[in-house]
Amino acid sequence: MFFGTFRRTSHKCFERLEEFEIVDKVTEIKADLADYGSIQTAIKQSEPDEIYNLGAQSFVGASFQQPILTSDITGLGVLRVLEGIRENVPDAKFYQASSSEMFGDYQGIKNEKSPFIPRSPYGAAKVFAHHMTNHYREAYDIFACCGILFNHESPLRGLEFVTRKITWSLAKIKLKTQEKLHLGNISAKRDWGFAGDYVEAMWMMLQQKTPDDYVIATGESHSVEEFLTIASEYAGLGDWHNFVEIDKSMMRPTDIKELVGDASKAKEKIGWSAKTSFEELVKKMVDHDIEYHKSHPLSF
Ligand code: GDP
Repeated sequence: MFFGTFRRTSHKCFERLEEFEIVDKVTEIKADLADYGSIQTAIKQSEPDEIYNLGAQSFVGASFQQPILTSDITGLGVLRVLEGIRENVPDAKFYQASSSEMFGDYQGIKNEKSPFIPRSPYGAAKVFAHHMTNHYREAYDIFACCGILFNHESPLRGLEFVTRKITWSLAKIKLKTQEKLHLGNISAKRDWGFAGDYVEAMWMMLQQKTPDDYVIATGESHSVEEFLTIASEYAGLGDWHNFVEIDKSMMRPTDIKELVGDASKAKEKIGWSAKTSFEELVKKMVDHDIEYHKSHPLSF
């Protein structure tokens, strides 16, 4: 049986689950990472064998405006889940979504031994959660794994992230419902993989004999500009300079220039490697968003 927790809001937001047609297979439980009582109740109700914590205030950009909330949810929230496990289901396996943002300013290819030099409140909160997960594994023998995932994208990516913002806008520009696309720092480079491949890695980590931490990445980095160029050409829009405007107000107070991960430990120990290439990923996202806007002409 599968359980999924969600925060109560006035408007339920399950579009992404609906896209997978799995809403009916998941039993919903109301819970909030800010509220320990609700986490305990969710754990007692579901009696889980495996817990995947993908919950967070997950947008780096917003963490500069909401550093305290981000630290509470993305950092302390994980500690609340770990306490819930220790007190109620110490034999359950736990997956924590650690993040390439934890490496921050550390230059060079990053692996499990690289230092964490976070450059955002989000990155700092993820470092706290990562260390706490390691602590519960060592101190209480909990089967807890951290997947240090580099950016992973798909047609379900939130619209505020740069990849989806680009493909969503290009689709609208193609269908003439939008004229311009405003972007910030397009020279930033990221190691972008396909989320579907990365979810498989999360599951694989929990099927091993012993818990451990793994970097999950493609090993290649590309700039926002490269993403834009491939997406624009593939969408049939040609030179992006014709419709992109660089907006200085979208630059972050501190930004990471380049992130590239080394996933050789995951390859060696659990047999995982990325299957989807950068170009395939860009095309998948462009195709989806053009199709979406064609069938939802009034969407905004
Ligand atoms: P992140 O790596 O988790 O912060 O993923 P994002 O997709 O939010 O940002 C990736 C990079 O794209 C960062 O270096 C951003 O500064 C840069 N970027 C440039 N323009 C934009 C934009 O309009 N929106 C976002 N979200 N990022 C942008």
